[in-house]
Amino acid sequence: MTASRWRKILVHLSRLAFAFAITAILTQFPFDYIESFLYDARVRLRPPPAPSGFIETIVIDAATIQNLGRVPNANDFRVLIERLHEAGAHSIVSLVNPNEAVGSLDEVRSLAKTAASLTNFYVAVDDVPLSGEKNALQLSPPFENVRAASAPVPVDRNIFARDDVSRRMMLAYQGLPTLHPIIAGEFNPDLKSKFQTAEGYQRDAFRGVFEYLQSDQLYIQFAPTGTYVPSSYSSLLAEESRESLKKFKGKIVIVGRDIQTTSKDYVRTPYSRDIVAMTIVELSANMFDTVIRNDATTRAPRWVNILITGLISYLTVIVVLTLTPTTGLLTLGSTIFGYFVVALLTLWIGQTWIDMAHPFLAIFICYYFFIPYRLILENRRSWEYYQKNKLLTQVEELKTNFLSMMSHDLKTPIARIQGMADVVKSDPNPLSPRQKEAVDTLRRSSDELLEFITGVLNLGRIESKAIQLHFHSKDVNSVVRDVVAKLDYLARSKQIEIRTELETLFSIRFDVDLMKQVLSNLVENAIKYSPENSSILVTTEERDGWIVVQVADQGPGIPEDELPRIFMKFYRSRNAKGSAIKGSGLGLYLAKYFVELHKGRISVDSTEGQGSTFTVELPTI
Ligand code: ADP
Repeated sequence: MTASRWRKILVHLSRLAFAFAITAILTQFPFDYIESFLYDARVRLRPPPAPSGFIETIVIDAATIQNLGRVPNANDFRVLIERLHEAGAHSIVSLVNPNEAVGSLDEVRSLAKTAASLTNFYVAVDDVPLSGEKNALQLSPPFENVRAASAPVPVDRNIFARDDVSRRMMLAYQGLPTLHPIIAGEFNPDLKSKFQTAEGYQRDAFRGVFEYLQSDQLYIQFAPTGTYVPSSYSSLLAEESRESLKKFKGKIVIVGRDIQTTSKDYVRTPYSRDIVAMTIVELSANMFDTVIRNDATTRAPRWVNILITGLISYLTVIVVLTLTPTTGLLTLGSTIFGYFVVALLTLWIGQTWIDMAHPFLAIFICYYFFIPYRLILENRRSWEYYQKNKLLTQVEELKTNFLSMMSHDLKTPIARIQGMADVVKSDPNPLSPRQKEAVDTLRRSSDELLEFITGVLNLGRIESKAIQLHFHSKDVNSVVRDVVAKLDYLARSKQIEIRTELETLFSIRFDVDLMKQVLSNLVENAIKYSPENSSILVTTEERDGWIVVQVADQGPGIPEDELPRIFMKFYRSRNAKGSAIKGSGLGLYLAKYFVELHKGRISVDSTEGQGSTFTVELPTI
């Protein structure tokens, strides 16, 4: 393996190592707040779960106070639970402690007696009994015989996200199930048989269960507030409401408060962080349904989250170091968006919660860590370019100065040579044939030299100032005809025939003088490089919005390796340099320059020994 390959592998490995180092450090911090915030966003975006239909809720609401003219008392409480029992409710869960109900001693006692006699009546309390503790939940007299069941409302207050939102529910504490799984199990016999076995309570029966401080917990599958529409307490007390009580048959009925007098009756949820976002009654309904459906969200294992964060960090490092800033930002933007969609779909379809906070923070950290590094690299590179460019400009300037100086200084002596040759030629004393030939050669050579020098001087002039284009609307064919007519004499001197095939064209706007120079150069070259007795074909046509002029000859062609260079300044092919054909190597350079000023294209198609075809394309608009 070569050294550069090793270096490449090493560079990749160091990027990988950096990405995983960032991951290792980052994943030490939980970022629960951001993670839960992003979880809530996903919960809100996915379609909510459908209620099981086994739950009914009743609330003491503003209408109840209005209708009764007071807070429901012990008597109202007794009447309500009696009626619910008569209607065949499967279980009645009161979130209101009957101890709070006011009334005469008899009324309170009567309520206690009724409540204790109903085996399906439970008072939900926030406490959890410790294993082995007796009567821990017992209500104070006279309600000591009423069933009190543990139904705590976990809130992320001092733990996890610390944002006062309720996301979790408790299934069991120290192996003792709470009220929710016990009642919900009646509506999901399959689940019940799995968690209530002969060996006792089995936590693994519940989807998404996790352990936290000796308790088994689930993430509640929330439905938005208002999904469980409550019945008003007072509407059920009226004598004529018996008919409407039928809907409670076979249901879990939850009774609670919604009068906004205490924040204890409400929780914040992933759907809303308002202080009265959801009643405890509706929260409890969500908890029951989560267990009945057994579809709680499962958190992806830690190693999956670390792996995802590592991969995303690595991707970011590569993007920042290799792509251009705009493409890099676009790629990272799409990665963030794409990952959000994946995480949303995972929650929505797979009910699985994959971490978003760590991957997103990894992107930001890797980005901000590597951008300055990239900037330093870029800066150094542009400094090098700048230096090289400066040098090149100086060289170019030197070259131009040198050329123009040379040209100027050469022009005068050449003019003198020409003059002297003419003097000798016109001398009345006859010259010997050898002398005449020598003077003729002198004259021809100095003409060629002057032509070359004029070419170089013209080039300098063209390059030093922007050329003003003088556009005229004209038919390209007429220019072709002029050029061919002008060069016909030159062609004939080599017995070369110039044929034309000109398609009728619309006039287009172009600089007539410049295009004449371009076409003259192409036809001149064709004549210059073609053998005697050959022919040249000049064609014009319109093709896909372009006027196409082609000059094809039967000359020597151009070697393939030289094709890309023939439009370069001063470039002459090896064959041309070795032959007697004179030239400056500027004709095609200028032709390309002029065609491109017209937003056109020039190209050549040639096979060595089989002639060349030059194509000029000018846009019609
Ligand atoms: P020159 O003054 O040398 O003709 P040009 O820029 O016009 O300069 O052409 C550059 C080179 O391209 C020429 O030296 C020649 O090698 C090659 N070339 C141009 N036209 C033809 C042609 N029709 N057939 C073969 N070679 C050509």
